[in-house]
Order: sequence, then structure tokens, then C-alpha cells
Amino acid sequence: MLQIHNLSKTYGEGEHSVNALENVTFSIERGEIVLIVGSSGSGKSTLLNMIGLLDRPTRGKIIIDGFDTTQLSDSQIAKFRNKKLGFIFQFSNLLSDLTVIENVMLPRNIGGGDKSSRALADATKLLDEVGMADQIHKRANKISGGQAQRAAIARGLINSPVVVLADEPTGNLDSVTSDMVVDLMKSIARKFGETFIIVTHDREHFGDVDRIITIKDGKASEEHKGMAIGI
Ligand code: ADP
Ligand code: MG
Repeated sequence: MLQIHNLSKTYGEGEHSVNALENVTFSIERGEIVLIVGSSGSGKSTLLNMIGLLDRPTRGKIIIDGFDTTQLSDSQIAKFRNKKLGFIFQFSNLLSDLTVIENVMLPRNIGGGDKSSRALADATKLLDEVGMADQIHKRANKISGGQAQRAAIARGLINSPVVVLADEPTGNLDSVTSDMVVDLMKSIARKFGETFIIVTHDREHFGDVDRIITIKDGKASEEHKGMAIGI
């Protein structure tokens, strides 16, 4: 489903350059819940931004759903990202002037202007799944942080992406709300067979997941079923 080959990212040039990722290689199967962990500045967000096609690698390949994304043009990348990838951020990034359901439908509207009854029905169903059925017409600035993150999860799923990418999705929440969001992401992932890649500095919160990739100084190692293996 996702293959990363020898991925490297260098920011800047010359003596001020930073090697944020060095020769990272791993693959992820459909339906897996994968954590990316590591200390601050280790390269987690850089890796997720590469996979999310928000930035281009310096070297290496990212193959998503059989497509070598490094071969795509900028406009192809924008379409690919919208169609195949879902995003959940640390701050929900909902547009405060829109209602909850308008926010969830936003990724459907980009380009195509899909405000069809089908899109509406899909958004309503997802908001029901995340426990927000009674909040759908509230403005985004009138709901709590936990509710906003629930809505953000629904928005991340609206295009039935092949993979959902979450960068510190609980980083801005208290521990009770954070537990709720973690449980929700895990149950949604299992129920929909969705692939989730979640960056976190707080692996304990997540309990049992399929795979944990640790990033240290831009290099990745993988822990699988209790074993640590260098990759
Ligand atoms: P993490 O998410 O694990 O905290 P990042 O991926 O954000 O780490 O950063 C990895 C390294 O790359 C850090 O040294 C950081 O300062 C550097 N870095 C990240 N983004 C940029 C950028 N846009 N320009 C220059 N350096 C960057
Ligand atoms: Mg980060």
C-alpha cells in the first residue's frame, strides 16, 4: 500500500543545511495502524510531510497505492493528495466561520464542487460515526477542542483515502480528551479497514498498534511485535 525507499530530506544548502531524514526505508500494508515516534526535532513531521506530499524529498521514492509519487507533477500531486490522502493535524484546522458539516465536506468540494446529496449523506454518516451527530450545524468556533478533533477525523475520512496521516493529533488535548481521540481513531481505523500513520511523542497513550517506527536523528528503526530491528 505504501512503500518508502531510501528517503532523504535535506533542508537548506552548504554549512547551514540540515539532514532531517537519511535513507529511510519501510513499507506499510493496508489497514495497519502505524505510529511514528521520536524526540522533538528527530524528523517525524518531515517524514509525514513527505508521505503527505506536502513537500518533496531530496532523494528516494514514495510509492502510494502503486503510484510512484516522486514522478508526479505539482498539479498531479495536488489531485492525488486530495483524492488518496486524509489529514488530521495537531490543531483541528477547522474553518471557524463554517459549520461542522461544511468543514467535513470541504475536501469533497475542492475542484469538483461536490455539494451533492451524496456528499452530504457521507459527511452526515461520518459525523455520526465520530459521535457528532447532534453538532453538525454548529459553527466550528462554537465547539470544544475534543469535538473539533472528532470533526477533523470525519473530515480526514470524507474522500475514503487510502491512508490517513495524523501529526500529533492529541498534542493539543488534555489527557482524558486525548484518550477519547486515540480510542476513536483506533476504532474507526479497524471498522473501516483504514490505514493510519500517526506521529506522536506519546506512544503509551496508543496502547496496542500494528507497528511502531522510531525516528532518531533522521534515521528510522522499526519495532514489530515487541522486537526492535534496524531497517
Ligand atoms: P519533529 O517533527 O520530529 O519534531 P521535524 O521533522 O519538524 O522534527 O524536524 C527535523 C529537523 O529538520 C529539525 O532539525 C528541524 O529544525 C529541521 N527542519 C524542519 N523543517 C525545516 C524547514 N522547513 N527548514 C529548515 N529546517 C527544518
Ligand atoms: Mg513535528
